[in-house]
Amino acid sequence: MSDSDCLFCRIASGEIPADLVRSDPDAVAFRDINPQAPTHILIIPRKHIPSVADLNDGDSDVMGTLFLMARDLAREEGLTENGYRMVVNAGADAGQTVFHIHLHLLGGRGMGWPPG
Ligand code: AMP
Ligand code: ZN
Repeated sequence: MSDSDCLFCRIASGEIPADLVRSDPDAVAFRDINPQAPTHILIIPRKHIPSVADLNDGDSDVMGTLFLMARDLAREEGLTENGYRMVVNAGADAGQTVFHIHLHLLGGRGMGWPPG
């Protein structure tokens, strides 16, 4: 369930401090240490899953939980009216650097498209 070598597992367990914005039984949210927008929150499952490629067929609720938490946090951050972006990087070409699945919630400024 949890990997003692994984940074985000250690944040979820409270072993490594983070700027937590939500701590639920199945998922945790905290502010990105290197924010790319006025609001930049990472939402992670407590369960250690390295990447989207590692999701099992039975894990459909994992991503659903992350998206519902993003919806609620966007509302709390005042982003719902103007909009926001959610990003999941999967693997090297996408620039994934932490191999514990996470949803980026970004908002508070206009976003470009296509992403870099
Ligand atoms: P990704 O590139 O999608 O794997 O995103 C990993 C994110 O984790 C980056 O945006 C980092 O800034 C962020 N990050 C790395 N270490 C920490 C930390 N200790 N606390 C909060 N965010 C972190
Ligand atoms: Zn982990």
